[in-house]
Amino acid sequence: MNEAVRRDTIVIGAGLSGLYAALQLKEAGHSVAVLEARDRVGGLTLSPHSPTLGRRIDLGGQWVSKSHMRMYRLVERYAVPVRRQFVTGDRVCIHDDKTFRGPMGTIPGMSKTDWAAYTEAFKTLYQVFEALPANPWEGDLAARLDRMTYDSWVREILPPGMARDALLRLPGAYYGVMPEEVSALELIQKLRGCGGPRFMSDVETGGMSEHLWGAQAVSEGMARDLEEDVFLGTPARRVTWTEKAVEIETDAGRFAARRVIFACSPAMIQQIPFSPALPAPRRLLHQRFPNGRNSKAVIVYDRPFWREKGLNGHVISTSGALTAALDISGADPGHGAMIALFSGKASLRVDPLDPAGRRSAVLGVLSQALGPEALAPLEFHLQVWADEEWSGGASSPFMVPGQLTQYGAALRASVGPFHWAGTHMALEFRGYMEGALAAGEAAARQILAAAEI
Ligand SMILES: Cc1cc2nc3c(=O)[nH]c(=O)nc-3n(C[C@H](O)[C@H](O)[C@H](O)COP(=O)(O)OP(=O)(O)OC[C@H]3O[C@@H](n4cnc5c(N)ncnc54)[C@H](O)[C@@H]3O)c2cc1C
Repeated sequence: MNEAVRRDTIVIGAGLSGLYAALQLKEAGHSVAVLEARDRVGGLTLSPHSPTLGRRIDLGGQWVSKSHMRMYRLVERYAVPVRRQFVTGDRVCIHDDKTFRGPMGTIPGMSKTDWAAYTEAFKTLYQVFEALPANPWEGDLAARLDRMTYDSWVREILPPGMARDALLRLPGAYYGVMPEEVSALELIQKLRGCGGPRFMSDVETGGMSEHLWGAQAVSEGMARDLEEDVFLGTPARRVTWTEKAVEIETDAGRFAARRVIFACSPAMIQQIPFSPALPAPRRLLHQRFPNGRNSKAVIVYDRPFWREKGLNGHVISTSGALTAALDISGADPGHGAMIALFSGKASLRVDPLDPAGRRSAVLGVLSQALGPEALAPLEFHLQVWADEEWSGGASSPFMVPGQLTQYGAALRASVGPFHWAGTHMALEFRGYMEGALAAGEAAARQILAAAEI
């Protein structure tokens, strides 16, 4: 039997989080190996080439903001193209079978009464942000919010109507999760940690003001810097461990290290047999930390025809027709390019269909919003992330009621030789590419601090 490959630390997962953790360790003089199940790096960032556009497009993470400091630094380091979000013109809102248009900063079609209720509910949400302590799992308010789903909380503060529907969109829009399956505390603290929904949805100066053309290039750049330390097509299949040593069996041989960082979702960790088993609290946590659902389409047209109608391509829906659509053509395009997101409930309209059905569902919604020209694209790309063996859902894992108050304090604590990364481990920008980097950095710091003792 071949000798195991030996390193100080093994990182499982070559997404942004795992690669960033490995880079920090390598730069500090530690030896590392990053094991990646797929034959590519980047995880939930995936940037195929568009022959029509002559550049890369994004089927996963794409929007950045200057407050995503780590991500922004890497985007500059690896020279990934960044474009301002196009916003000139009206946006569209689909509500049931009706389509409304109106300026950015409004929800087109919403009555004055519903808008007042919506604004009031936002005030309540921001008051909860203030009232929760820095450790969001502590105190009576946290306990109350963790006993209910986000859906129950919204129903408590808003009567039926378009305002309630709009607030119920948030879990799908930001975390690909249904409002009735996520803890109110978990969702609210995630929104708070990402700057709040006003900042997150702001396409002019906030969280959606800039997008990349080829986010996967950040991971590819880090993998180049890690040189021969990244092992593709190397899924971790079995883990044998003591307090001081770990051996990992993969499809490409054995790896041994003093420490391991898991930079993949708990659902993926759960598929790996551990010998001996992980302690019960950690195993039970992984069982209660499932993935959401995100599907994303990129559709390329001969021209950005919606701009000719005074539309900026920004589409939302309060009734679950889609999560959002945005124009990613750039400032002065020849061709037109749109993305359409189907997350949480909206993904259930698309995911169960066959390929032809998925395509006609996506194009059908776009034609309802932008006009019949939407039915004749030059290119159509769709990534249903829940179909992916090594993602198994999408965006970011989330916690069901009762878990954050129970496990919050221990979430990032190491267990024997094991450390935990991935965007779901971040306190700030959880569910974002920035959160993935922050969590990778935190796991690397834990290891560097332990090595100094
Ligand atoms: C459709 C969509 C749109 C998004 N939009 C944005 C956006 O606009 N802005 C933003 O900031 N973020 C966005 N995100 C979220 C962002 O892409 C993710 O938060 C981030 O990329 C997660 O990185 P990660 O390293 O934590 O996890 P992942 O990218 O999931 O990486 C985990 C890696 O582990 C590997 N792996 C799993 N199991 C094993 C195993 N047993 N052995 C070895 N390897 C394994 C996987 O193959 C994967 O490569 C979006 C996500 C999606 C899906």
